[in-house]
Amino acid sequence: MFDIDNIRNDFPILKQIVNEKPLIYFDSGATSQKPQVVIDSLKHFYTNSNSNVHRGIHTLGDRATIAYENSRNKLANFINAQAKEIVWTKGATESLNLLAHGLSNILKPGDVILISALEHHANIVPWQQLCANTGAILKVIPLDESSQAIELNTAQQLIDLHKPKILSISHASNALGNIQPITDIIKYSKKYKTVTVIDGAQAFMHLRPDMITLDCDFYVFSAHKALGPTGLGGLYGKYEQLNALPVYQTGGEMIKSVSFEETVFAQAPGKFEAGTPNISGVIAFGCAIDYMNKIDFSEQKAYENELFVYLQQQLENISGIELYGDLVQNIGTISFNYKKEHPFDIATLLDQYGIAVRVGSHCTQPLMKSLNIDGTVRISLAFYNTKNEIQQFITHLKQCLSLLD
Ligand code: PLP
Repeated sequence: MFDIDNIRNDFPILKQIVNEKPLIYFDSGATSQKPQVVIDSLKHFYTNSNSNVHRGIHTLGDRATIAYENSRNKLANFINAQAKEIVWTKGATESLNLLAHGLSNILKPGDVILISALEHHANIVPWQQLCANTGAILKVIPLDESSQAIELNTAQQLIDLHKPKILSISHASNALGNIQPITDIIKYSKKYKTVTVIDGAQAFMHLRPDMITLDCDFYVFSAHKALGPTGLGGLYGKYEQLNALPVYQTGGEMIKSVSFEETVFAQAPGKFEAGTPNISGVIAFGCAIDYMNKIDFSEQKAYENELFVYLQQQLENISGIELYGDLVQNIGTISFNYKKEHPFDIATLLDQYGIAVRVGSHCTQPLMKSLNIDGTVRISLAFYNTKNEIQQFITHLKQCLSLLD
């Protein structure tokens, strides 16, 4: 049985009183909350093992290096990959920039990079820059107006039309929660040997991606959206392709040998980890992975879906509320608007009740344009939320909306 009381006890922040009300945290899409084991790990590292990695011959250095590399192994097991296929980065944004930089040498003017209309700016702007530098062209799989989702057949038609060199698409949308049909899209792209990049920032915690099943070339994510500390993320790449990418940043750590005449770089993943990495963060993220592994994934999914369906039904019962996106294939994120009210006003009122939601364009301005809106109120649920919190939220939302009417 999915034991929600025990789970909530693991997240100290959820016990907090905000504006004299118990905190209701519905902003996990921005960053997830952290279980005690992750918080403890950070403290433990600085108290007991603080040292640099891959350098010292001393005991602390060894301890730090073993724990750091052990987290890489844990992550590799979690996503069904090999440790050497994983690079630690600052987050999904840095991983995408690393790729956009590294893939420049496969492009010539006129080649196409294909993305979807649902992308976060982090999966648009680096490719735009790459196009500006190489003469490649950015094309977009549009949103289907009626389903407010990317339709597989539209994606396939555009893949056939453009034969893209690179396809970069989110596993799940941060603004609408849509789970995209990436498995079929990846499979279809193989027809043209397209390099496939998946932005898994939102999907990682909710869908636990399997690299062998997905069979994409690269997958990026942020640790802080999956119970881990901020300032950390990762890049998975099939080893041959990862190792073939040119170096991104240079300096210490990423080298095999250096003379004043030339430098020989390390092999992947080391060659992409220049300088002192986020050692405590990586080790703490290993604890986040251990924590996720203790939760039965099918129970987590069923629980998250129950919350999502309940929230959706409750919102649909409020007249004047418009919901957006795919409400079936969804990670548990709902975006809405109320009549012509500004989302910002709704969120400000909700905050008075200790309810944390996100508003605005969610770093998806082109998507908002496709939907003909400026922004939304976004609720992004996680497995540590409860039905009771949704009931509280709905009660207070109705109070807020009555003030705005
Ligand atoms: N991609 C998606 C879908 C996201 O939701 C986000 C962050 O919200 C990012 C990329 C960027 O992640 P980060 O800010 O952790 O680098």
